[in-house]
Amino acid sequence: MNEKRELTCIGCPIGCMLEVTLEDGIVVDVKGNTCLRGKTYAEKECTNPTRIVTSSVKVRNGEIDAVSIKTKSDIPKDKIMQCIEELRGVVLEAPVNIGDVILTNVAGTGVNVIATKGVAKIN
Ligand code: SF4
Repeated sequence: MNEKRELTCIGCPIGCMLEVTLEDGIVVDVKGNTCLRGKTYAEKECTNPTRIVTSSVKVRNGEIDAVSIKTKSDIPKDKIMQCIEELRGVVLEAPVNIGDVILTNVAGTGVNVIATKGVAKIN
C-alpha cells in the first residue's frame, strides 16, 4: 500500500519540509530535504522514531535544588513516557558533576541518563 507523509526535519534550524513516500511501510522516496541528514531523519522517523529526552531532577544539599539531565543517546519514542516516569522519583545528593550517570538502562532501552550541568554542595 502506498502512503505519503509530510514531516518537518529537525536536523537543523532550517526545518526543511519533507514529503515521504512509503510502500508497505518501507520508505521508497524522500523529497524536500536539502541535505542527506533529512533523508536519514525521514527514514528513521517513519520506521523507528527516536528522541533524546531532556528533563531535570531534584538535588538535595546543593547550591540549587535541581539539575538538568538528558538521555545519553536517542531512545524509542514509545519509551519516552516510561523514561519520564522513572525519572520522577529520582533525588540526587550534591555534588553532581556534568556527565554523572543518573539512571542506567532507562526504560529498558540500554541507554543511560546523565547530568548536563554540575551542582556544588552547600557548605
Ligand atoms: S534536510 Fe538538512 S538542511 Fe534541511 S532541516 Fe534537515 S538537516 Fe537541515
